[in-house]
Amino acid sequence: MVYLIHFDEPYHHARHYLGYVEGNGRRKTSCLVSRLKRHQAGNGSKLLAALSRQGRTWRLTRVWWNGTRDLERQLKKAGHVGARNCPFCNRKVLGELVKTQSNKLKKFIFENNHDLIF
Ligand SMILES: [Zn+2]
Repeated sequence: MVYLIHFDEPYHHARHYLGYVEGNGRRKTSCLVSRLKRHQAGNGSKLLAALSRQGRTWRLTRVWWNGTRDLERQLKKAGHVGARNCPFCNRKVLGELVKTQSNKLKKFIFENNHDLIF
């Protein structure tokens, strides 16, 4: 699956992190939660590790449950990942996302103050 993280403050020119984790579908939410915990701990991404070291906050804003590495590449290649796909930055994408979050993920997000905005 492919996931999008939004930084609460821009880091240099970066405002988002687009990642891929093995496992597709909501039944694999645990894979994503594990990855987010790794990110929180400063592992799995140099960019997010740098943010963590500086005490900067970020939030998960979108998940493509069946997203493949190809989708990740396509989204990166298209550019402006955040402006095009982040519901936090672009309210127009909100409508299609309302039903995409599982309860397990919501619980994780709630407990870690990475609040969903829909
Ligand atoms: Zn954003």
